[in-house]
Amino acid sequence: MLRSAAFVLSLLVSPILCAADKPLALVIHGGAGTMSREALTPEREAEIRADLDRALDAGHAVLRAGGSALDAVTAAVVVLEDSPHFNAGKGAVFNAEGVNELDAAIMDGATQRAGAVAAIHRTKNPIRLARAVMEQSRHVMLIGEGAEKFGESVGIEFVDPAYFRTEHRWQQLQDAKAREAAQAALPRGYHYGTVGAVALDGEGRIATATSTGGTTNKRWGRVGDTPVIGAGTYAGARCGVSATGTGEFFIRLMVAYDICARMEYRGDSLAAAAEEVVMKRLPAIGGDGGIIALDGEGNISATFNTSGMYRGWIKPDGTRGTAIFKE
Ligand code: ASP
Repeated sequence: MLRSAAFVLSLLVSPILCAADKPLALVIHGGAGTMSREALTPEREAEIRADLDRALDAGHAVLRAGGSALDAVTAAVVVLEDSPHFNAGKGAVFNAEGVNELDAAIMDGATQRAGAVAAIHRTKNPIRLARAVMEQSRHVMLIGEGAEKFGESVGIEFVDPAYFRTEHRWQQLQDAKAREAAQAALPRGYHYGTVGAVALDGEGRIATATSTGGTTNKRWGRVGDTPVIGAGTYAGARCGVSATGTGEFFIRLMVAYDICARMEYRGDSLAAAAEEVVMKRLPAIGGDGGIIALDGEGNISATFNTSGMYRGWIKPDGTRGTAIFKE
């Protein structure tokens, strides 16, 4: 009797012990682009790093409690969407009509399920709507009014579109319009602030989430790489990638999927695959930006070909950090 009770107990406890043995990892980004140390005031840098830390804490708390990678990346991205410092949710860039138009995607590497939304205007946390598309619809991508109508049917939180507005992004739009009127090209790496997260949970599952306002002054219903599965967002059984940069280039190279495919088919390491795609293939066609990624062992990559990328990580050994420039 006692022995069988002990056996039942060991069955109950063993999954918890196994999960605790497995590596947990989380990596996040708050966008890549041309950033100068001089333009970044110490106050702004401190606020950005604090928000990155809060996103790491939110995601890692989920992982430590035995939660899923999917819940971890959702929690981390919601924090970054709610921060005015990043180009996602509150603080998103404006399109040419002076409207915040948001895109987001999420993918579960263990099941290869994905959800994405594009060109939405009223959803407080686009990543939650993308997740609802994945979990509560038969579809992968919904756009515009239809996407938000679906959101209403599943109880997603909406805000007045004015909620997303920040003065900083409004001035950025005026600057982009002035440059356009003067027929001056936007400087390389002008757009940044997209957010993303990739997590590895105690069951060995990987998930990726990415959210953005796209590019300043975008027109004609332009959609970037963020909600395009395989371009700006991808997760497989042993690899997850979230991208940031000028989306057109990331779509053409299917950047996120290419990195994971190199690992799967060629046996490349995460570092080698990221280096090849971000530092060679992207610049070869004029693409600027970066990626965060992790593999099934919890190895992390944050690779970018711009001067900076807001980023943060917690490795399997518990060490953590945030960074902005190449360090
Ligand atoms: N990749 C985003 C887009 O093209 C922009 C960004 O990462 O800043 O929509």
